[in-house]
Amino acid sequence: MSQNSEFNKVNYIEICEVGPRDGLQNEEKLLTVDQKIELIEEVVAAGAKIIEIGSFVHPKAVPQMADTDEVAKRLKRYDGVEYRALIMNLKGVERAEANGITKAKLTVSASRAHSLSNLNKTPEEAVKGFEEVANFAAKKGITISGAISTGFGYPNEGIIPIEDIYPIIDSYLQIGVTELSLSDTTGMANPQQVYEYAKAVKEKYPQILWNLHFHNTRGMGLANVVAGMQAGITRFDACFGGLGGCPFAPGASGNIATEDVVHMVNAMGVRTDYDLDKLITLARKVQDYVGREVSSFILKAGKSIV
Ligand code: ZN
Repeated sequence: MSQNSEFNKVNYIEICEVGPRDGLQNEEKLLTVDQKIELIEEVVAAGAKIIEIGSFVHPKAVPQMADTDEVAKRLKRYDGVEYRALIMNLKGVERAEANGITKAKLTVSASRAHSLSNLNKTPEEAVKGFEEVANFAAKKGITISGAISTGFGYPNEGIIPIEDIYPIIDSYLQIGVTELSLSDTTGMANPQQVYEYAKAVKEKYPQILWNLHFHNTRGMGLANVVAGMQAGITRFDACFGGLGGCPFAPGASGNIATEDVVHMVNAMGVRTDYDLDKLITLARKVQDYVGREVSSFILKAGKSIV
């Protein structure tokens, strides 16, 4: 189908593959370093330009990510391909630097109750606490992006009002972070809310490069991507095979699957950097490696477009 400009406000979207981090960190089965590298190589071969390759967090907190140092060290580098890792603190950014990773992502929960009970800090205070991380990164030529997790809703609290998001954004700007992801960690966002929040933050903060991150916990993930596109957002996260659960909803669906997103937007005449057939082959391999049926729709049903 050709692109319908009345419906599609954008004609291209960039998709960051978060599978090696947000996907694999929730899997029971631990992959080997070789398997992770093989998957990341195939993600690159399928066209990815941004890949979240792992996280530099405490190995006891997330054992699935304990070998990120080795993965980062051994990965081949390609022109125009960005490898990014999640970090939580100074130690994390130091590990990124030691392993040649030049892009690191910080994250903070938008839920005040969650942030207070977890860190004894408000979300704004948590971001301010990242200042030394940001300063170290700047000195070492590492770019920092920020995520606002549970940015749409939080269990037991319900919807996070957008007015609660603004001060978090301001705090990120104060420490020099200008690339932000609004993340629906708990799969609670609905398309209308996504449209309204995305439009509002884009208008209020045009200096920020915006990204959206959805989980398909309640089946609204793909609709939320469309809503984001209609608000003019062109950057989204997605995960091979739709891996990754929701930490607050055991057994729930994971991230939106990269191959599902690419299939949907291709059908709508919107371009990506990905080769859909290669993504499907990759998702099948991911399914083999994690040893369970994954939640990708296209892997089960096949493409609707030829
Ligand atoms: Zn996520």
